[in-house]
Amino acid sequence: MLDNNANNIENIENPENNPQNFIISIVEQDLKCGTYKSRLDKNNKPLPDIITRFPPEPNGYLHIGHAKSICLNFGLAQRYNGRCHLRFDDTNPEKESQEFADDIQNAVEWLGFWNKNNTEHLYYASDYFDILYEFAEILIKQNLAYVDSQTGEQIKLNRGSLIHGGIESPYRNRKAEENLQIFQGMREGKYTEGTHVLRAKIDMSSPNINMRDPIIYRIKYAHHHRSGDKWCIYPMYDYTHCISDALENITHSICTLEFEDHRPLYNWILEKLKDAKALPEILPKQYEFARLNLHYALTSKRKILQLIQNNIVDGWNDPRLATLAGIRRRGYSPSSIKLFCERIGVAKADSWIDYSVLEQALRDDLDPIVPRLTAVLKPLKLIIDNMADDYAELCSAAVNPHNQEQGKRNFTLSKELWIEQDDFMPEPSKGFFRLFVGNKVRLRHGFVVECTGYDVDSNNSVIAVHVNYFEDSKSGTEGSNNYKVKGNIHWVDAKNSTEIQVNLYNHLFTDPQPDANGKNFLELINPNSKTIAYAYLENSDISNSIKNEMQIQFERHGYFVKDIQSTEQNTIFNRITLLKDSKHK
Ligand code: ATP
Ligand code: MG
Repeated sequence: MLDNNANNIENIENPENNPQNFIISIVEQDLKCGTYKSRLDKNNKPLPDIITRFPPEPNGYLHIGHAKSICLNFGLAQRYNGRCHLRFDDTNPEKESQEFADDIQNAVEWLGFWNKNNTEHLYYASDYFDILYEFAEILIKQNLAYVDSQTGEQIKLNRGSLIHGGIESPYRNRKAEENLQIFQGMREGKYTEGTHVLRAKIDMSSPNINMRDPIIYRIKYAHHHRSGDKWCIYPMYDYTHCISDALENITHSICTLEFEDHRPLYNWILEKLKDAKALPEILPKQYEFARLNLHYALTSKRKILQLIQNNIVDGWNDPRLATLAGIRRRGYSPSSIKLFCERIGVAKADSWIDYSVLEQALRDDLDPIVPRLTAVLKPLKLIIDNMADDYAELCSAAVNPHNQEQGKRNFTLSKELWIEQDDFMPEPSKGFFRLFVGNKVRLRHGFVVECTGYDVDSNNSVIAVHVNYFEDSKSGTEGSNNYKVKGNIHWVDAKNSTEIQVNLYNHLFTDPQPDANGKNFLELINPNSKTIAYAYLENSDISNSIKNEMQIQFERHGYFVKDIQSTEQNTIFNRITLLKDSKHK
């Protein structure tokens, strides 16, 4: 362990201190020891004892994996009265854009950790290009960096492998003065791409390949979305990241496990710059946690982009994608995502999270608060033969049975209703308690009815079911309990309902780990990931007040959200998830 703070080691090695989140133990230990106490910023203002950052590259939209990192970094800052920076790690000009940067801010704001109108702690790595350049000159002057003029291929070849050490470049011992001169020439655009790179002078025989004189600057004639054409050399990620952390006085630089082998380089660069008095005494430290791998979800911007480019989904906010834009459109609430992140915890070892954990977080979040409505997704006509044509009974039901304060909703019941096709069987199978000829069921919040017959079309498909109702069986009235029925079905009034479109989503892939072990996720697409139902929705005071992006529960079906493309003429709902985990159904 490279950590130079002995107190931390004890905690990292003893995850029992906080099995749900080992980073909390580290932070608490640092607070207790005063590791970052009494620091001042460059204007002599006191700094918080905990400063974290979320550092996305603006090269795509954020996904559920990023949510884990956002909740962790912003969550720690909230919990310990610190602060969290949003920093765009924008050093790859060709892949990045302002559009992505804006959308990332939207996503973090949606999660409740950001306010686009207060950008005090919004940072861009590209704002450090000048200082990063100055620091590179410091390293050159100290003989800790040199310009290498081998070809890219030679550099790669001479880096060696896990078994063989690297071979030192013939340019490794160039004099500092010559290095400075060429480096300045690189900046001035005197050379073509690939002719020179700047490398840190560390150790070509290190067992850690990252320490074999890593490249820290390369020539690239690319327009940058913020710095324009000012630069034709760009710093590499490893060099930029640690320095950005130090410049922002970050205390805990938390990243995913694949950066564990980069930590020695992170520390090397910062230590050398500290020794040169370019950086303060107290430096940030890197900690690694396991990335989120979620079943049926791709957590890679590059792979998500492939789905979009191949027209497998309808853009970044397709409700089947695990992008935050997609998850939001699908109907997940920010609090359900936070609950999910809390439940999965922060561990040191990679693992897969079952998709049902995400769905359950949503149910637990929505169940106590969202209104209930009735919708019939596969409509079949039910005719109450012993009811007058012009009769309408006013029925009511709780908006949310867990919270009577939300009141009641009112809707009508009349002679012709819509029920679900699945709630009727001409020839009932064993254990089927709903409608079949001779059986009685309760129409939820309404009457008990007895099935007397059904109509079929020329294909022998059932097109209508006939029943008689019992006037004294109305739900909630005295004596209604005298009717003992096993089935309880939902319905909407055919005369008083709204036709709606319902998008029924299923997993996008047929395999829970579509991109693991070299699998080609493009060959594992579920052809039934989206089906459209034309359904009927109750007409009630509540159903008429549902705005776009509001979540509701359709009784007996699950949780739904009114889609952002919904209009008054065309009401669209997306199914977020079923009422219960389908595996346990
Ligand atoms: P992608 O491969 O999708 O581009 P990335 O890691 O390159 O992902 P960045 O924009 O560089 O994306 O990531 C910003 C932050 O989010 C980083 O600190 C990274 O560690 C974290 N992050 C990215 N993916 C995950 C994940 N699946 N689980 C947890 N954290 C993640
Ligand atoms: Mg990246």
